[in-house]
Amino acid sequence: METRLLYGQPVAQELKNKISTDIHSLKKVGSIPKLVVIIIGEDQASLTYVSMKKKAADKLGMSSEILRFPPSITEQQLKDEISKLNKDMNVHGILLQLPIPNHINEKNVLEWIDPRKDVDGFHPTNVGRLTVGQPGFYPCTPLGIMRILTFYEIPIKGKHVVIVGRSNIVGKPVGQLLLNKDATVTFCHSKTEDLQELTSRADILIIAIGKAHFIKRNAVKKGATVIDIGNTFNEQKQVFGDADMNDLKGHVANITPVPKGVGPMTITMLLYNTVQAAKELNKGE
Ligand code: NAP
Repeated sequence: METRLLYGQPVAQELKNKISTDIHSLKKVGSIPKLVVIIIGEDQASLTYVSMKKKAADKLGMSSEILRFPPSITEQQLKDEISKLNKDMNVHGILLQLPIPNHINEKNVLEWIDPRKDVDGFHPTNVGRLTVGQPGFYPCTPLGIMRILTFYEIPIKGKHVVIVGRSNIVGKPVGQLLLNKDATVTFCHSKTEDLQELTSRADILIIAIGKAHFIKRNAVKKGATVIDIGNTFNEQKQVFGDADMNDLKGHVANITPVPKGVGPMTITMLLYNTVQAAKELNKGE
């Protein structure tokens, strides 16, 4: 069987063209979409992700700002900073780069961000909207996966989707998005019994666990679609997916490669959400 590689770049490019058009229209009415990314501490990987987000926003002609705070910042100080951003009419998207230091309660902080500016889609209001199928901000990686499936015309309705990984960032929201599109969804996690029996029944297998090359041919149905979210780095900074793509080639119909599969979609969806936030907030002014 010929295996098609589902690259993210053409999907991201198509969306970037739309985002550029929207930014152009917003600028005509005097509004420049602005994203503010909050980062606490000196975690190198987080600093890299944050600067990638800023570069991508700047490249599309959006405004962006990185707010850096020392690990010693208190919850109250952070709450005050977020409150200022919530009130700032020129700020449309607010993102807290995770992880944050242990002395700050992540759940509290995510609730302080105005849901209308919550472009990561982690506020409980937006999580609830996703669950009941109402418009809101949904997490970026799951949205990117949906765009890839649509772009490559992979049927969803009535299909059995098996998701390995149940994080709030990837596993749960992508499952909910697919359920909302009439897929039959099975969630798996580290306590799942007989994982392979379940994964090998999937029409679409989504893996988000962070274990390099965990999924091999014997765990996947012939002709399935595999969406690989995993990003595991070795000491040489090479990145590996959760699926063993070389082993799966010739066995599955479609697979997202790592790198260059889902990765390019996440930041693009963040910019998309920020522009949507700017459009909605402008309507309300
Ligand atoms: P996470 O919060 O660590 O969650 C991992 C999930 O995998 C948990 O639900 C865990 O189960 C499950 N799991 C771990 N080992 C397992 C096993 N042996 N069998 C079955 N389930 C297992 O991770 P995450 O934030 O969702 O990220 C997952 C991966 O995706 C990471 O490699 C991350 O770097 C990558 N990622 C990529 C992007 C992108 O843009 N490409 C975005 C986000 C994340 P329990 O719940 O039972 O512990």
